[in-house]
Amino acid sequence: MNKILNYINGIHLAPAKGEFMDNFNPATGKVYGLIPDSDAEDVALAYEAASKAFKSWKLTTLEERFKVLNRIAELIDENNDQLATAESIDQGKPQWLAKNEITRAGQNFRFFATAAMQFASESHNMEGHAINYTLRQSIGVVGCISPWNLPLYLFTWKIAPALAAGNCVIAKPSEITPMTAYLLSELCIEAGLPAGVLNIVHGLGPMVGNAMVSHPGIKAISFTGGTSTGRHIASVAAPMFKKLSLELGGKNPNIVFADCDFDKALKTTVNTSFLNQGEICLCGSRILVERSIYAKFRDALIEEVKALKVGNPLDKSTKIGAIVSRMHYDKVLSYIELAKEEGGKILLGGQAFKAEGDNADGWFIEPTIIEDLAFDCRTNTEEIFGPVVSIMPFDTEEQALEMANCTEYGLACSIWTSDLSRAHRVASNIESGIVWINCWLLRDLRTPFGGVKNSGVGREGGWEAMRFFTEPKNVCIKY
Ligand code: NDP
Repeated sequence: MNKILNYINGIHLAPAKGEFMDNFNPATGKVYGLIPDSDAEDVALAYEAASKAFKSWKLTTLEERFKVLNRIAELIDENNDQLATAESIDQGKPQWLAKNEITRAGQNFRFFATAAMQFASESHNMEGHAINYTLRQSIGVVGCISPWNLPLYLFTWKIAPALAAGNCVIAKPSEITPMTAYLLSELCIEAGLPAGVLNIVHGLGPMVGNAMVSHPGIKAISFTGGTSTGRHIASVAAPMFKKLSLELGGKNPNIVFADCDFDKALKTTVNTSFLNQGEICLCGSRILVERSIYAKFRDALIEEVKALKVGNPLDKSTKIGAIVSRMHYDKVLSYIELAKEEGGKILLGGQAFKAEGDNADGWFIEPTIIEDLAFDCRTNTEEIFGPVVSIMPFDTEEQALEMANCTEYGLACSIWTSDLSRAHRVASNIESGIVWINCWLLRDLRTPFGGVKNSGVGREGGWEAMRFFTEPKNVCIKY
């Protein structure tokens, strides 16, 4: 039985109370490991280590910071196979997909290692009178809380800029997918990251997460997860005047105009809908198709999706793995029932998938396509976060925008058209933080990442992340 430990002050530790919880393999439905059930006492210990380490970490030269963060990136690359297999077992995603995400986790560290070397601040000259320069100082001890869908990728996306900016970090991965965060702690030791600079505390959100958010010494919280958790975190952290970055849920539209490159739009829509079992915050769960090509697109999509193999994530030919937890599996299935109650017609899937052998008790759901739903019904406006999409026709650009913008979310969208003017117009009028035109998930780590409306507050990525993890201090010198 795998038993993982907290990583505090540079060493692996059991939780103070000695309590552990079960860790499940979603593809078998069985317990395969134990994880610390930590609480505020462990967070306090991590804080003590981090605040002590901060005294020297903030004084490291940029090159020293670069070297150790870049070494972590190299170690992630060197251990890609082991990390990807662990991620696949822990999360349920196909192993080939986990390999890509581990590569991206390494890229996060490499990218922010170089950012540490390049980050600069402004100066404002008051002609003949004075000069201002702005220091960008590290904050101190910061908290990073991440979800279960892209475990190591999203964990490193927060930790790397926080460390590059000179902070010490207390981080909590989702208790549902803790394994690669634990393996990362082993790599941090191997890379020579000084003790206490990064501390990883495993456990439940309401225990560990809450203790981090309410800790008076942790001055900034970077959170990625559900909108209701984000709302709760804001209610605790805002009155304490903490810096907050909230990357929350989405209900993204995928808008297909009749003048698009049909084959490209179709192939990409299969991915936007079902990659990682639809458990990516950027997945497009509402497919809006211009009426003149609606029937052709819908039928072709059904044929493509029918061919996706569901099952054992470790099997190379699997395209759709297991749903991450029993609770989430029940939630996704309940939304399929809701869709039926709301008058939806199930075109494909619509039920649990029964796998064979060791996977017979795993949590699999058939990729599901639904039509005939009102664009503003609950199925079409609430986040399902699973392999379930709804497809709808539209007649005009205005109507497509009305449908696309009708949810409380505004994270991402993709637009398929060969009309350049329309592409720019729709991109400008869509209510979302990220717009892809004739593509999806094409990521440049320098670009601002985040959502509008209930999809979040603040932006990650590039300088946005470095700015979030630093405090500006303006110094004015009179001539
Ligand atoms: P949750 O909001 O349930 O959990 C996210 C993290 O917060 C977990 O580590 C969780 O711990 C922790 N947490 C839970 N309760 C608290 C609390 N009271 N105080 C502090 N921390 C807490 O999200 P999921 O893990 O279910 O992830 C799925 C959600 O994440 C979806 O809504 C998805 O859209 C969103 N997401 C957004 C992204 C974006 O960039 N905008 C990217 C990826 C996902 P525990 O696991 O123990 O509950």
